[in-house]
Amino acid sequence: MNADYQKVISTVYAEILTQENIGKVPDYIPEIACIEENKFGVNYTDLNDNSFGCGDFQEKFSIQSISKVFALSYVYEELGEKLWKRVDVEPSGNPFNSLLQLEADHGIPRNPFINAGALVICDILLEICDKPKEKMLEFIRNLAEDDEIFFNEKVAQSEMENSFRNTAMCNFMKSFGNIHERPTAVIDLYCHLCSIEMTCEQLSKSFLYLANGGKKPSDNTSVLPFLKAKRINAILLTCGFYDESGEFSFLVGLPGKSGVGGGIIAILPQKYCIAVWSPKLNPKGNSYRGMKFLEKFTTLTGETIF
Ligand code: GLU
Repeated sequence: MNADYQKVISTVYAEILTQENIGKVPDYIPEIACIEENKFGVNYTDLNDNSFGCGDFQEKFSIQSISKVFALSYVYEELGEKLWKRVDVEPSGNPFNSLLQLEADHGIPRNPFINAGALVICDILLEICDKPKEKMLEFIRNLAEDDEIFFNEKVAQSEMENSFRNTAMCNFMKSFGNIHERPTAVIDLYCHLCSIEMTCEQLSKSFLYLANGGKKPSDNTSVLPFLKAKRINAILLTCGFYDESGEFSFLVGLPGKSGVGGGIIAILPQKYCIAVWSPKLNPKGNSYRGMKFLEKFTTLTGETIF
């Protein structure tokens, strides 16, 4: 690994650690609300399998909406282009759990990374897989080359008990015919995918296929063809950070995805994937330190997609 990269990561990590940690751990999922809010981990992995981590990079956390990228990748590869009849690829400019646009859009979610879109993806997973939970774990374990990846049942249950908005969204989309399975089954799968726990180290390795034109770099097997990987990166850039996607692109300049567990993954195509975790979120629901870290990191390395 380029020693300068390692130096930049350590320097930025140390600098951010000394600064004030602003934001709030979300309180709407009780199992996540009790997380230690000063946790901070970073892991960088590149296409030559160089890996470097700082802080709590080997500690598991709830990946939450980052799981939407795995689910989309799997479903897109299985279903092909007809997927886009059921979910669009436009930034929503609205919070992740908003119902606002669904009525005017006839039950078609703006993109696969807001909750409504991810619920449609879960509905499709239920249609195309016999055992979608097992299938998704197998898919992710293969990407991470690590079988120690599980659902956190307590987090999944706690989310299900508080899933009033997601349930409303699911029922509303079903009234337009865009949810085919039972809404309770869709919510159960959705909450389980959100509850998956991974480390920064596992995440930065798992998403390398998006930096590598759709191929898993360790054995060159295809996860997705180049065109589909290119398109997922494009949606990550325009829609990966809720209604702060423009700001993330402006400050960081990489495709990426955040989750309310405080994780962020960001990809530099042809080069690396970096994962950051810090639980305190800014008002838009993105990790405060995660955004700060990535902004400094790409500024100092001078490398972004732009
Ligand atoms: N479990 C969250 C929800 O649906 C996921 C949100 C997120 O990470 O964006 O409310």
